[in-house]
Amino acid sequence: MIKNLIFDMGNVVLDYTPRRIASFFTQDPEELDFLCSEVFSNKEWLLLDRGVITEEEAIESILSRTPVKYHELCKRVMGGWEDYFLPVDGTYEQLISLKERGFKLYMLTNASLKIHKYRQNSPAFDLMDGIVVSSEEHLLKPEPGIYLRLLEKFGLNADECLFFDDVEINVETAEKLGIHGHVFKKEPDEIVKTVEEYIKPDSHE
Ligand SMILES: [Mg+2]
Repeated sequence: MIKNLIFDMGNVVLDYTPRRIASFFTQDPEELDFLCSEVFSNKEWLLLDRGVITEEEAIESILSRTPVKYHELCKRVMGGWEDYFLPVDGTYEQLISLKERGFKLYMLTNASLKIHKYRQNSPAFDLMDGIVVSSEEHLLKPEPGIYLRLLEKFGLNADECLFFDDVEINVETAEKLGIHGHVFKKEPDEIVKTVEEYIKPDSHE
């Protein structure tokens, strides 16, 4: 019986589309390409998400390997991209309805400590019964340890959990650990429909 719903954050709760976010800082196609390839989702982001470097160290590292002409842009983006990290349409409304139906809601996310700043971008964060953030655990999805950390921290049984993530490998790892999983595609009512599939008497369980 599914009692607990676990959500990824990026592209489930908040919309992580680098080009859309970058477009708030520049309209120049070359600068947009540069930001997408060299600033967003690069090795520094992974280190930030793992919680092993600071924001200042990440910026320093990005500047050290990029042309000077982009440095001001890099600093502006690294200093303020989170203002444009905005909600995925419809997720909050679905989470509210599931919370009202008695499901416990959790978040399992690869994110830097900046999450404590941009969590104000969506009221969905306040619906969570618990949140596990990679940078606080020094573990990243899809490493099994971070899933086990969530289960242990909140005393959850894997078989009573349904996990939503837009990245297939993250869902596969959850399933290997006995957590039910769904690859999220940002379709209307997808979360509620998936939960209903799982709780039907003749469903997966
Ligand atoms: Mg994601």
